Amino acid sequence: MRQSILARDKTRTPSDKIVIVAIDDASYEYILNRYGEWPLPRDVYSKIAEYIETSKPQSIVFDLMFVNSLKSSKQADNAIIDTITNHNNIFTAMNFDNQENSLRIPPQLPDNVSVNFENKSKNVDLSYHEYSNCRKILDGILNNTSNIGITNVSRSDDGILRKMPVVVKYKDKYYPQLAFAAGLQYLKTNNIYDNSKIIIDEDSKIRIGNRIIPLDYEGSVILNWYGGAQSYNYIPLYKLIQAAEGEKGTEKFDFKDKIVYFGTTAVSLFDIKTVPVSKTYPGVEVQATYVNNIIDNNFIIRYDGWITLVIGLILSILTIVIVLSETSVIVGALASSTIYIIYLLSTYFVMKYFNIWLDVVYPIIFTIGAFMLAYIIKYLIKARDFEQQYLLATTDGLTELYNHRYFQEQMKQMVDSCSRYETSFSLIILDIDFFKKFNDTFGHQAGDAVLRQVAQTLKKNVRASDIVCRYGGEEMSIILSNTDYETAVSTAQKICDRVSSRHFHLPNGKETSVTISLGVSTYPQDGLTPSELIEAADKHLYKAKEEGRNRVGN
Ligand code: GH3
Ligand code: MG
Ligand code: MG
Repeated sequence: MRQSILARDKTRTPSDKIVIVAIDDASYEYILNRYGEWPLPRDVYSKIAEYIETSKPQSIVFDLMFVNSLKSSKQADNAIIDTITNHNNIFTAMNFDNQENSLRIPPQLPDNVSVNFENKSKNVDLSYHEYSNCRKILDGILNNTSNIGITNVSRSDDGILRKMPVVVKYKDKYYPQLAFAAGLQYLKTNNIYDNSKIIIDEDSKIRIGNRIIPLDYEGSVILNWYGGAQSYNYIPLYKLIQAAEGEKGTEKFDFKDKIVYFGTTAVSLFDIKTVPVSKTYPGVEVQATYVNNIIDNNFIIRYDGWITLVIGLILSILTIVIVLSETSVIVGALASSTIYIIYLLSTYFVMKYFNIWLDVVYPIIFTIGAFMLAYIIKYLIKARDFEQQYLLATTDGLTELYNHRYFQEQMKQMVDSCSRYETSFSLIILDIDFFKKFNDTFGHQAGDAVLRQVAQTLKKNVRASDIVCRYGGEEMSIILSNTDYETAVSTAQKICDRVSSRHFHLPNGKETSVTISLGVSTYPQDGLTPSELIEAADKHLYKAKEEGRNRVGN
Protein backbone atom coordinates (compact mmCIF):
# COMPACT_ATOMS: atom_id res chain seq x y z
CA MET A 1 0.00 0.00 0.00
CA ARG A 2 2.59 2.51 1.15
CA GLN A 3 4.91 1.27 -1.55
CA SER A 4 2.29 1.69 -4.24
CA ILE A 5 1.54 5.26 -3.11
CA LEU A 6 5.25 5.96 -2.94
CA ALA A 7 5.85 4.50 -6.37
CA ARG A 8 3.39 7.00 -7.84
CA ASP A 9 5.33 9.83 -6.25
CA LYS A 10 6.48 11.97 -9.17
CA THR A 11 9.88 12.56 -7.58
CA ARG A 12 10.71 8.87 -7.83
CA THR A 13 11.68 7.81 -11.30
CA PRO A 14 13.71 4.85 -12.47
CA SER A 15 17.29 5.36 -13.51
CA ASP A 16 17.83 6.46 -17.12
CA LYS A 17 20.84 4.14 -17.16
CA ILE A 18 18.50 1.19 -17.50
CA VAL A 19 16.86 0.28 -20.80
CA ILE A 20 14.52 -2.66 -21.13
CA VAL A 21 14.39 -4.48 -24.43
CA ALA A 22 10.89 -5.82 -24.14
CA ILE A 23 9.79 -9.09 -25.61
CA ASP A 24 6.29 -7.70 -25.85
CA ASP A 25 3.20 -8.88 -27.70
CA ALA A 26 4.06 -6.89 -30.81
CA SER A 27 7.55 -8.44 -30.93
CA TYR A 28 6.13 -11.92 -30.43
CA GLU A 29 3.84 -11.42 -33.43
CA TYR A 30 6.68 -9.94 -35.42
CA ILE A 31 8.97 -12.91 -34.70
CA LEU A 32 6.30 -15.44 -35.65
CA ASN A 33 5.74 -13.60 -38.92
CA ARG A 34 9.36 -13.07 -39.80
CA TYR A 35 10.97 -16.34 -38.69
CA GLY A 36 7.90 -18.55 -38.68
CA GLU A 37 8.70 -19.82 -35.19
CA TRP A 38 9.03 -18.98 -31.52
CA PRO A 39 11.41 -18.55 -29.72
CA LEU A 40 13.58 -16.12 -31.58
CA PRO A 41 16.51 -17.97 -33.17
CA ARG A 42 19.56 -17.56 -30.94
CA ASP A 43 21.77 -16.23 -33.69
CA VAL A 44 19.37 -13.27 -33.91
CA TYR A 45 19.87 -12.58 -30.20
CA SER A 46 23.57 -12.78 -30.90
CA LYS A 47 23.23 -10.27 -33.73
CA ILE A 48 21.24 -7.89 -31.55
CA ALA A 49 23.77 -8.13 -28.73
CA GLU A 50 26.61 -7.44 -31.13
CA TYR A 51 24.67 -4.47 -32.47
CA ILE A 52 24.19 -3.09 -28.95
CA GLU A 53 27.86 -3.67 -28.12
CA THR A 54 28.88 -1.29 -30.92
CA SER A 55 27.60 1.65 -28.87
CA LYS A 56 29.51 0.51 -25.73
CA PRO A 57 26.85 -0.28 -23.14
CA GLN A 58 27.59 -0.74 -19.46
CA SER A 59 26.18 -4.26 -19.70
CA ILE A 60 23.65 -6.43 -21.47
CA VAL A 61 21.56 -8.70 -19.28
CA PHE A 62 19.44 -11.49 -20.70
CA ASP A 63 16.59 -12.37 -18.35
CA LEU A 64 16.36 -15.42 -20.60
CA MET A 65 17.69 -18.96 -20.32
CA PHE A 66 19.62 -20.49 -23.18
CA VAL A 67 19.11 -24.15 -22.31
CA ASN A 68 19.69 -27.13 -24.60
CA SER A 69 16.83 -27.14 -27.05
CA LEU A 70 15.88 -29.27 -30.02
CA LYS A 71 14.47 -26.16 -31.65
CA SER A 72 17.83 -24.45 -31.69
CA SER A 73 20.48 -25.29 -34.29
CA LYS A 74 24.11 -25.90 -33.39
CA GLN A 75 25.07 -22.88 -35.46
CA ALA A 76 22.59 -20.62 -33.62
CA ASP A 77 23.77 -21.94 -30.22
CA ASN A 78 27.38 -21.29 -31.14
CA ALA A 79 26.53 -17.75 -32.21
CA ILE A 80 25.05 -16.85 -28.82
CA ILE A 81 27.83 -18.70 -26.97
CA ASP A 82 30.46 -16.73 -28.88
CA THR A 83 28.75 -13.41 -28.31
CA ILE A 84 28.27 -13.99 -24.59
CA THR A 85 31.79 -15.25 -24.03
CA ASN A 86 33.54 -12.69 -26.22
CA HIS A 87 32.18 -9.75 -24.26
CA ASN A 88 32.75 -9.59 -20.54
CA ASN A 89 29.68 -7.42 -19.96
CA ILE A 90 26.94 -9.80 -21.08
CA PHE A 91 24.92 -11.65 -18.43
CA THR A 92 22.52 -14.49 -18.83
CA ALA A 93 20.06 -16.32 -16.57
CA MET A 94 19.71 -19.73 -15.03
CA ASN A 95 17.20 -21.15 -12.56
CA PHE A 96 17.43 -23.71 -9.77
CA ASP A 97 14.64 -26.06 -8.75
CA ASN A 98 13.91 -28.93 -6.39
CA GLN A 99 12.91 -31.65 -8.84
CA GLU A 100 14.24 -34.58 -6.82
CA ASN A 101 12.30 -37.31 -8.55
CA SER A 102 12.90 -36.36 -12.12
CA LEU A 103 15.17 -38.28 -14.44
CA ARG A 104 17.47 -35.30 -14.37
CA ILE A 105 20.55 -35.83 -12.20
CA PRO A 106 21.60 -32.68 -10.34
CA PRO A 107 24.41 -31.36 -12.52
CA GLN A 108 27.78 -30.14 -11.30
CA LEU A 109 28.28 -26.46 -12.11
CA PRO A 110 31.70 -25.02 -12.95
CA ASP A 111 33.40 -23.11 -10.12
CA ASN A 112 33.61 -19.83 -11.98
CA VAL A 113 29.84 -19.42 -11.82
CA SER A 114 29.64 -19.36 -8.01
CA VAL A 115 30.53 -16.38 -5.80
CA ASN A 116 33.04 -16.03 -3.00
CA PHE A 117 30.61 -15.45 -0.21
CA GLU A 118 30.38 -15.48 3.56
CA ASN A 119 27.51 -15.00 5.98
CA LYS A 120 28.57 -13.61 9.38
CA SER A 121 25.06 -12.71 10.51
CA LYS A 122 23.24 -14.87 13.04
CA ASN A 123 19.93 -13.44 11.84
CA VAL A 124 20.28 -14.44 8.22
CA ASP A 125 19.55 -18.03 7.26
CA LEU A 126 20.48 -18.72 3.65
CA SER A 127 18.95 -22.17 3.64
CA TYR A 128 15.64 -20.54 2.63
CA HIS A 129 17.18 -20.21 -0.80
CA GLU A 130 18.71 -23.65 -1.09
CA TYR A 131 17.91 -25.79 -4.11
CA SER A 132 18.75 -29.35 -5.02
CA ASN A 133 18.58 -29.42 -8.80
CA CYS A 134 18.68 -27.30 -11.92
CA ARG A 135 18.47 -27.40 -15.65
CA LYS A 136 21.78 -26.38 -17.12
CA ILE A 137 22.14 -23.71 -19.73
CA LEU A 138 24.43 -24.36 -22.71
CA ASP A 139 27.81 -25.77 -21.64
CA GLY A 140 29.55 -23.32 -23.93
CA ILE A 141 28.16 -20.47 -21.87
CA LEU A 142 28.55 -22.15 -18.47
CA ASN A 143 32.20 -23.01 -19.02
CA ASN A 144 33.37 -19.77 -20.54
CA THR A 145 31.85 -16.95 -18.53
CA SER A 146 31.11 -16.21 -14.92
CA ASN A 147 28.38 -13.74 -15.87
CA ILE A 148 25.53 -16.05 -14.99
CA GLY A 149 22.81 -15.01 -12.59
CA ILE A 150 20.05 -16.96 -10.95
CA THR A 151 16.44 -15.85 -11.40
CA ASN A 152 14.75 -17.68 -8.53
CA VAL A 153 12.42 -15.31 -6.73
CA SER A 154 11.11 -15.12 -3.22
CA ARG A 155 7.47 -14.48 -2.51
CA SER A 156 5.85 -13.42 0.72
CA ASP A 157 3.16 -15.60 2.29
CA ASP A 158 0.46 -13.61 0.51
CA GLY A 159 2.01 -14.51 -2.86
CA ILE A 160 3.26 -11.01 -3.50
CA LEU A 161 6.82 -10.52 -4.66
CA ARG A 162 8.39 -7.91 -2.41
CA LYS A 163 11.92 -9.15 -2.15
CA MET A 164 14.65 -10.95 -4.00
CA PRO A 165 17.53 -13.13 -2.84
CA VAL A 166 21.12 -11.94 -3.07
CA VAL A 167 22.57 -15.38 -3.54
CA VAL A 168 21.06 -18.82 -3.95
CA LYS A 169 22.58 -21.98 -2.49
CA TYR A 170 23.17 -25.07 -4.57
CA LYS A 171 25.40 -28.00 -3.60
CA ASP A 172 27.05 -25.94 -0.80
CA LYS A 173 28.06 -23.16 -3.14
CA TYR A 174 26.49 -19.73 -3.55
CA TYR A 175 25.34 -18.37 -6.88
CA PRO A 176 24.45 -14.71 -7.37
CA GLN A 177 21.01 -13.54 -8.27
CA LEU A 178 21.01 -12.16 -11.84
CA ALA A 179 20.30 -8.53 -10.95
CA PHE A 180 22.74 -8.68 -8.04
CA ALA A 181 25.43 -9.92 -10.43
CA ALA A 182 24.61 -7.16 -12.92
CA GLY A 183 24.63 -4.62 -10.05
CA LEU A 184 28.06 -5.85 -8.95
CA GLN A 185 29.30 -5.39 -12.51
CA TYR A 186 28.03 -1.80 -12.40
CA LEU A 187 29.81 -1.19 -9.08
CA LYS A 188 32.97 -2.76 -10.50
CA THR A 189 33.10 -0.60 -13.62
CA ASN A 190 32.48 2.46 -11.44
CA ASN A 191 35.35 1.49 -9.12
CA ILE A 192 33.07 0.89 -6.14
CA TYR A 193 33.63 -2.85 -5.93
CA ASP A 194 36.95 -4.62 -6.42
CA ASN A 195 35.98 -8.25 -6.91
CA SER A 196 36.77 -9.22 -3.31
CA LYS A 197 34.68 -11.50 -1.16
CA ILE A 198 31.02 -10.61 -0.55
CA ILE A 199 30.26 -10.62 3.16
CA ILE A 200 27.00 -10.39 5.07
CA ASP A 201 28.20 -8.67 8.24
CA GLU A 202 26.95 -9.25 11.80
CA ASP A 203 24.43 -6.47 11.15
CA SER A 204 22.79 -8.46 8.32
CA LYS A 205 24.04 -5.99 5.76
CA ILE A 206 26.27 -6.32 2.73
CA ARG A 207 28.54 -3.29 2.43
CA ILE A 208 30.17 -2.62 -0.90
CA GLY A 209 31.92 0.73 -0.98
CA ASN A 210 29.29 3.21 0.12
CA ARG A 211 26.51 0.83 -0.84
CA ILE A 212 24.60 -0.73 2.03
CA ILE A 213 22.41 -3.65 1.13
CA PRO A 214 20.21 -4.65 4.11
CA LEU A 215 19.04 -8.26 4.17
CA ASP A 216 16.07 -9.87 5.85
CA TYR A 217 16.08 -13.15 7.79
CA GLU A 218 16.26 -15.26 4.63
CA GLY A 219 18.97 -13.23 2.94
CA SER A 220 16.69 -11.29 0.63
CA VAL A 221 16.64 -7.59 -0.18
CA ILE A 222 13.34 -5.71 0.02
CA LEU A 223 12.90 -3.89 -3.26
CA ASN A 224 12.11 -0.20 -3.37
CA TRP A 225 9.75 0.39 -6.29
CA TYR A 226 9.82 3.36 -8.58
CA GLY A 227 6.52 3.20 -10.37
CA GLY A 228 3.75 1.04 -11.74
CA ALA A 229 4.38 -1.43 -14.56
CA GLN A 230 6.14 -0.11 -17.69
CA SER A 231 7.75 2.80 -15.87
CA TYR A 232 11.17 2.01 -17.33
CA ASN A 233 12.59 3.08 -20.63
CA TYR A 234 11.32 0.43 -23.03
CA ILE A 235 12.35 -0.58 -26.55
CA PRO A 236 10.31 -3.33 -28.20
CA LEU A 237 12.53 -6.21 -29.28
CA TYR A 238 11.30 -6.12 -32.87
CA LYS A 239 12.73 -2.62 -33.40
CA LEU A 240 16.14 -3.91 -32.37
CA ILE A 241 15.77 -6.89 -34.67
CA GLN A 242 15.11 -4.47 -37.52
CA ALA A 243 18.11 -2.35 -36.54
CA ALA A 244 20.42 -5.34 -36.04
CA GLU A 245 19.35 -6.92 -39.32
CA GLY A 246 20.30 -3.63 -40.97
CA GLU A 247 16.89 -2.92 -42.41
CA LYS A 248 16.73 0.34 -44.25
CA GLY A 249 14.87 3.23 -42.68
CA THR A 250 14.80 1.75 -39.18
CA GLU A 251 15.46 3.60 -35.97
CA LYS A 252 19.07 3.84 -34.72
CA PHE A 253 19.76 3.31 -31.03
CA ASP A 254 22.53 4.50 -28.77
CA PHE A 255 23.23 2.37 -25.68
CA LYS A 256 26.36 4.08 -24.44
CA ASP A 257 26.81 3.30 -20.72
CA LYS A 258 23.34 1.79 -20.49
CA ILE A 259 22.38 -1.40 -18.72
CA VAL A 260 20.31 -3.16 -21.35
CA TYR A 261 17.94 -5.71 -19.84
CA PHE A 262 16.24 -8.26 -22.10
CA GLY A 263 13.05 -9.85 -20.86
CA THR A 264 9.45 -10.61 -21.49
CA THR A 265 6.63 -8.20 -20.84
CA ALA A 266 4.11 -10.09 -22.95
CA VAL A 267 1.39 -11.55 -20.73
CA SER A 268 1.29 -14.66 -22.91
CA LEU A 269 4.90 -15.48 -22.07
CA PHE A 270 4.19 -16.07 -18.38
CA ASP A 271 6.77 -13.94 -16.65
CA ILE A 272 4.23 -11.69 -14.97
CA LYS A 273 4.43 -11.15 -11.21
CA THR A 274 2.23 -9.59 -8.57
CA VAL A 275 4.23 -6.97 -6.73
CA PRO A 276 3.25 -4.30 -4.18
CA VAL A 277 2.81 -1.66 -6.86
CA SER A 278 0.88 -3.67 -9.43
CA LYS A 279 -1.00 -6.93 -9.94
CA THR A 280 0.60 -7.56 -13.31
CA TYR A 281 4.20 -6.55 -13.33
CA PRO A 282 6.74 -7.90 -15.81
CA GLY A 283 9.46 -10.05 -14.29
CA VAL A 284 12.09 -8.11 -16.20
CA GLU A 285 11.03 -4.93 -14.38
CA VAL A 286 11.44 -6.68 -11.06
CA GLN A 287 15.02 -7.41 -12.15
CA ALA A 288 15.50 -3.85 -13.35
CA THR A 289 14.20 -2.49 -10.04
CA TYR A 290 16.73 -4.64 -8.20
CA VAL A 291 19.62 -3.30 -10.32
CA ASN A 292 18.21 0.20 -9.97
CA ASN A 293 18.19 -0.12 -6.14
CA ILE A 294 21.86 -1.13 -6.24
CA ILE A 295 22.72 1.82 -8.50
CA ASP A 296 20.79 4.25 -6.25
CA ASN A 297 21.81 2.63 -2.95
CA ASN A 298 18.13 2.61 -2.18
CA PHE A 299 16.86 -0.64 -0.63
CA ILE A 300 14.08 -0.76 1.92
CA ILE A 301 15.05 -1.84 5.42
CA ARG A 302 12.36 -3.50 7.44
CA TYR A 303 12.14 -2.90 11.16
CA ASP A 304 10.22 -5.67 12.82
CA GLY A 305 10.50 -7.81 15.92
CA TRP A 306 11.12 -5.79 19.06
CA ILE A 307 10.69 -2.42 17.34
CA THR A 308 7.18 -3.42 16.29
CA LEU A 309 6.57 -4.59 19.84
CA VAL A 310 7.71 -1.27 21.32
CA ILE A 311 5.61 0.73 18.85
CA GLY A 312 2.61 -1.50 19.57
CA LEU A 313 3.08 -0.99 23.32
CA ILE A 314 3.40 2.79 23.01
CA LEU A 315 0.26 3.00 20.85
CA SER A 316 -1.58 0.69 23.26
CA ILE A 317 -0.61 2.73 26.32
CA LEU A 318 -1.71 5.95 24.60
CA THR A 319 -5.00 4.30 23.66
CA ILE A 320 -5.61 3.03 27.19
CA VAL A 321 -4.82 6.43 28.71
CA ILE A 322 -7.23 8.15 26.30
CA VAL A 323 -10.03 5.66 26.79
CA LEU A 324 -9.74 5.68 30.57
CA SER A 325 -9.63 9.46 30.80
CA GLU A 326 -12.37 10.14 28.26
CA THR A 327 -15.97 9.52 29.29
CA SER A 328 -17.51 9.54 25.80
CA VAL A 329 -17.13 6.31 23.84
CA ILE A 330 -17.23 8.14 20.51
CA VAL A 331 -14.56 10.65 21.49
CA GLY A 332 -12.43 7.80 22.88
CA ALA A 333 -12.76 5.80 19.66
CA LEU A 334 -12.05 8.85 17.51
CA ALA A 335 -9.00 9.80 19.53
CA SER A 336 -7.64 6.24 19.41
CA SER A 337 -8.19 6.05 15.65
CA THR A 338 -6.49 9.40 15.22
CA ILE A 339 -3.44 8.11 17.04
CA TYR A 340 -3.35 5.14 14.73
CA ILE A 341 -3.84 7.24 11.60
CA ILE A 342 -0.99 9.53 12.66
CA TYR A 343 1.17 6.45 13.08
CA LEU A 344 0.11 5.19 9.64
CA LEU A 345 1.01 8.52 8.03
CA SER A 346 4.34 8.61 9.78
CA THR A 347 5.20 5.11 8.50
CA TYR A 348 4.61 6.45 5.00
CA PHE A 349 7.04 9.32 5.49
CA VAL A 350 9.54 7.11 7.28
CA MET A 351 9.52 4.89 4.22
CA LYS A 352 9.69 7.81 1.81
CA TYR A 353 12.57 9.62 3.45
CA PHE A 354 14.45 6.90 5.29
CA ASN A 355 13.62 3.73 3.31
CA ILE A 356 12.39 2.20 6.55
CA TRP A 357 9.49 -0.21 6.53
CA LEU A 358 7.64 -0.12 9.84
CA ASP A 359 5.04 -2.77 10.44
CA VAL A 360 1.45 -1.53 10.53
CA VAL A 361 -0.49 -4.75 11.10
CA TYR A 362 0.79 -5.80 14.54
CA PRO A 363 0.61 -2.28 15.99
CA ILE A 364 -3.03 -2.01 14.89
CA ILE A 365 -3.86 -5.39 16.42
CA PHE A 366 -2.19 -4.19 19.62
CA THR A 367 -4.08 -0.91 19.52
CA ILE A 368 -7.47 -2.50 18.92
CA GLY A 369 -6.75 -5.01 21.67
CA ALA A 370 -5.76 -2.19 24.03
CA PHE A 371 -8.88 -0.25 23.08
CA MET A 372 -11.13 -3.20 23.96
CA LEU A 373 -9.18 -3.98 27.11
CA ALA A 374 -9.46 -0.35 28.22
CA TYR A 375 -13.22 -0.47 27.79
CA ILE A 376 -13.51 -3.77 29.65
CA ILE A 377 -11.48 -2.29 32.53
CA LYS A 378 -13.58 0.84 32.43
CA TYR A 379 -16.84 -1.06 32.68
CA LEU A 380 -15.54 -3.43 35.33
CA ILE A 381 -14.62 -0.40 37.43
CA LYS A 382 -18.04 1.11 36.77
CA ALA A 383 -19.81 -2.14 37.64
CA ARG A 384 -17.84 -2.44 40.88
CA ASP A 385 -18.62 1.19 41.79
CA PHE A 386 -22.27 0.61 41.05
CA GLU A 387 -22.33 -2.52 43.19
CA GLN A 388 -20.69 -0.68 46.06
CA GLN A 389 -23.10 2.21 45.77
CA TYR A 390 -26.04 -0.13 45.64
CA LEU A 391 -24.77 -1.89 48.75
CA LEU A 392 -24.28 1.42 50.53
CA ALA A 393 -27.76 2.56 49.57
CA THR A 394 -29.54 -0.60 50.69
CA THR A 395 -27.70 -1.88 53.73
CA ASP A 396 -27.06 -0.79 57.26
CA GLY A 397 -23.41 -0.35 58.12
CA LEU A 398 -23.53 -1.65 61.68
CA THR A 399 -25.51 -4.87 61.30
CA GLU A 400 -25.06 -5.44 57.52
CA LEU A 401 -28.80 -6.03 57.36
CA TYR A 402 -30.95 -4.27 54.76
CA ASN A 403 -31.81 -0.73 55.83
CA HIS A 404 -35.16 0.87 56.52
CA ARG A 405 -35.58 2.29 53.04
CA TYR A 406 -34.99 -1.09 51.43
CA PHE A 407 -37.41 -2.63 53.90
CA GLN A 408 -40.13 -0.18 52.86
CA GLU A 409 -39.51 -0.86 49.14
CA GLN A 410 -39.68 -4.60 49.65
CA MET A 411 -42.88 -4.31 51.65
CA LYS A 412 -44.48 -2.41 48.78
CA GLN A 413 -43.32 -4.97 46.23
CA MET A 414 -44.49 -7.85 48.40
CA VAL A 415 -47.94 -6.35 48.77
CA ASP A 416 -48.10 -5.74 45.00
CA SER A 417 -47.03 -9.22 43.96
CA CYS A 418 -49.11 -11.00 46.62
CA SER A 419 -52.23 -9.10 45.60
CA ARG A 420 -51.61 -10.01 41.94
CA TYR A 421 -50.89 -13.70 42.56
CA GLU A 422 -53.23 -13.97 45.55
CA THR A 423 -50.61 -15.41 47.84
CA SER A 424 -49.68 -14.41 51.34
CA PHE A 425 -46.56 -13.25 53.17
CA SER A 426 -45.73 -12.45 56.78
CA LEU A 427 -43.82 -9.79 58.66
CA ILE A 428 -41.97 -10.19 61.95
CA ILE A 429 -40.94 -7.11 63.90
CA LEU A 430 -38.74 -7.58 66.93
CA ASP A 431 -37.21 -5.39 69.62
CA ILE A 432 -34.43 -6.12 72.11
CA ASP A 433 -35.64 -6.18 75.70
CA PHE A 434 -34.38 -3.60 78.19
CA PHE A 435 -31.76 -2.44 75.78
CA LYS A 436 -31.54 1.03 77.26
CA LYS A 437 -30.52 -0.54 80.53
CA PHE A 438 -28.12 -2.85 78.73
CA ASN A 439 -26.40 0.17 77.21
CA ASP A 440 -26.29 1.92 80.56
CA THR A 441 -24.76 -1.15 82.20
CA PHE A 442 -22.26 -2.36 79.57
CA GLY A 443 -21.77 0.71 77.41
CA HIS A 444 -22.69 1.58 73.85
CA GLN A 445 -19.87 -0.47 72.31
CA ALA A 446 -21.19 -3.59 73.97
CA GLY A 447 -24.68 -2.64 72.78
CA ASP A 448 -23.41 -2.42 69.18
CA ALA A 449 -21.71 -5.81 69.46
CA VAL A 450 -24.96 -7.36 70.68
CA LEU A 451 -26.92 -5.72 67.85
CA ARG A 452 -24.53 -7.30 65.31
CA GLN A 453 -24.82 -10.72 66.93
CA VAL A 454 -28.61 -10.57 67.08
CA ALA A 455 -28.57 -9.70 63.34
CA GLN A 456 -26.39 -12.77 62.64
CA THR A 457 -28.71 -14.99 64.64
CA LEU A 458 -31.69 -13.77 62.62
CA LYS A 459 -29.98 -14.37 59.28
CA LYS A 460 -28.93 -17.85 60.32
CA ASN A 461 -32.46 -18.85 61.28
CA VAL A 462 -34.44 -17.79 58.23
CA ARG A 463 -34.57 -18.94 54.60
CA ALA A 464 -32.32 -17.32 52.00
CA SER A 465 -35.39 -15.82 50.37
CA ASP A 466 -36.46 -14.04 53.59
CA ILE A 467 -35.44 -10.41 53.91
CA VAL A 468 -33.92 -9.36 57.23
CA CYS A 469 -33.80 -5.61 57.87
CA ARG A 470 -32.82 -3.20 60.57
CA TYR A 471 -36.05 -1.34 61.12
CA GLY A 472 -34.39 1.31 63.27
CA GLY A 473 -32.53 1.53 66.58
CA GLU A 474 -32.61 -1.92 68.17
CA GLU A 475 -35.66 -2.96 66.22
CA MET A 476 -35.39 -5.41 63.33
CA SER A 477 -37.86 -6.82 60.84
CA ILE A 478 -38.11 -9.92 58.68
CA ILE A 479 -40.21 -10.26 55.55
CA LEU A 480 -41.11 -13.91 54.95
CA SER A 481 -42.38 -14.56 51.42
CA ASN A 482 -45.09 -17.19 50.87
CA THR A 483 -45.58 -17.69 54.59
CA ASP A 484 -48.86 -17.90 56.49
CA TYR A 485 -49.43 -16.60 60.00
CA GLU A 486 -48.92 -19.90 61.87
CA THR A 487 -45.63 -20.65 60.15
CA ALA A 488 -44.44 -17.10 60.75
CA VAL A 489 -45.31 -17.35 64.45
CA SER A 490 -43.37 -20.59 64.80
CA THR A 491 -40.39 -19.04 62.96
CA ALA A 492 -40.63 -16.07 65.34
CA GLN A 493 -40.75 -18.43 68.33
CA LYS A 494 -37.73 -20.32 67.03
CA ILE A 495 -35.78 -17.06 66.67
CA CYS A 496 -36.87 -15.94 70.14
CA ASP A 497 -35.55 -19.20 71.61
CA ARG A 498 -32.27 -19.05 69.70
CA VAL A 499 -31.59 -15.49 70.90
CA SER A 500 -32.43 -16.19 74.51
CA SER A 501 -30.35 -19.36 74.60
CA ARG A 502 -27.18 -18.03 72.98
CA HIS A 503 -24.25 -16.27 74.57
CA PHE A 504 -23.37 -12.82 73.37
CA HIS A 505 -19.71 -11.85 73.36
CA LEU A 506 -18.84 -8.42 74.69
CA PRO A 507 -15.79 -6.35 73.67
CA ASN A 508 -14.31 -6.77 77.17
CA GLY A 509 -14.22 -10.54 76.63
CA LYS A 510 -17.14 -11.31 78.89
CA GLU A 511 -20.30 -13.06 77.81
CA THR A 512 -23.91 -12.21 78.52
CA SER A 513 -27.41 -13.01 77.31
CA VAL A 514 -30.24 -10.89 75.95
CA THR A 515 -33.81 -11.51 75.00
CA ILE A 516 -36.11 -10.14 72.35
CA SER A 517 -39.83 -9.63 71.95
CA LEU A 518 -41.54 -10.25 68.62
CA GLY A 519 -44.76 -9.45 66.82
CA VAL A 520 -46.11 -11.05 63.65
CA SER A 521 -48.60 -9.96 61.00
CA THR A 522 -49.68 -11.62 57.77
CA TYR A 523 -50.95 -10.36 54.44
CA PRO A 524 -53.84 -10.21 53.67
CA GLN A 525 -55.69 -10.94 56.93
CA ASP A 526 -53.85 -8.39 59.11
CA GLY A 527 -53.69 -5.61 56.56
CA LEU A 528 -53.60 -4.77 52.88
CA THR A 529 -50.94 -2.03 52.92
CA PRO A 530 -47.41 -1.97 54.34
CA SER A 531 -48.35 0.49 57.04
CA GLU A 532 -51.35 -1.60 58.16
CA LEU A 533 -49.14 -4.67 58.33
CA ILE A 534 -46.39 -2.84 60.27
CA GLU A 535 -48.99 -1.47 62.67
CA ALA A 536 -50.45 -4.95 63.26
CA ALA A 537 -47.04 -6.50 63.90
CA ASP A 538 -46.18 -3.61 66.21
CA LYS A 539 -49.35 -4.24 68.19
CA HIS A 540 -48.39 -7.86 68.72
CA LEU A 541 -44.87 -6.80 69.68
CA TYR A 542 -46.29 -4.37 72.22
CA LYS A 543 -48.40 -7.22 73.61
CA ALA A 544 -45.31 -9.37 74.00
CA LYS A 545 -43.63 -6.58 75.97
CA GLU A 546 -46.69 -6.22 78.17
CA GLU A 547 -46.93 -9.95 78.81
CA GLY A 548 -43.38 -10.04 80.18
CA ARG A 549 -41.05 -9.91 77.13
CA ASN A 550 -38.89 -12.73 75.64
CA ARG A 551 -41.87 -14.01 73.67
CA VAL A 552 -43.96 -13.74 70.52
CA GLY A 553 -46.95 -11.47 71.08
CA ASN A 554 -50.41 -12.63 70.17
P1 GH3 B 1 -37.93 -2.35 76.03
O1 GH3 B 1 -37.68 -3.72 76.55
O2 GH3 B 1 -39.18 -1.80 76.45
O3 GH3 B 1 -37.75 -2.32 74.54
O4 GH3 B 1 -36.83 -1.50 76.72
P2 GH3 B 1 -35.69 -0.68 76.02
O5 GH3 B 1 -34.73 -0.22 76.98
O6 GH3 B 1 -35.11 -1.54 74.92
O7 GH3 B 1 -36.51 0.50 75.47
P3 GH3 B 1 -36.36 1.30 74.13
O8 GH3 B 1 -36.72 0.42 72.98
O9 GH3 B 1 -37.13 2.56 74.28
O10 GH3 B 1 -34.86 1.67 74.12
C1 GH3 B 1 -34.05 1.65 72.98
C2 GH3 B 1 -32.66 1.78 73.33
O11 GH3 B 1 -31.85 1.15 72.41
C3 GH3 B 1 -32.25 3.22 73.34
C4 GH3 B 1 -30.85 3.19 72.88
O12 GH3 B 1 -30.00 3.38 73.95
C5 GH3 B 1 -30.64 1.81 72.37
N1 GH3 B 1 -30.16 1.82 71.01
C6 GH3 B 1 -30.86 2.13 69.89
N2 GH3 B 1 -30.04 2.05 68.79
C7 GH3 B 1 -28.82 1.67 69.23
C8 GH3 B 1 -27.56 1.41 68.62
O13 GH3 B 1 -27.38 1.53 67.39
N3 GH3 B 1 -26.54 1.05 69.39
C9 GH3 B 1 -26.68 0.90 70.77
N4 GH3 B 1 -25.64 0.50 71.47
N5 GH3 B 1 -27.85 1.13 71.36
C10 GH3 B 1 -28.90 1.53 70.64
MG1 MG C 1 -37.16 -0.06 70.90
MG1 MG D 1 -36.14 -2.31 73.31
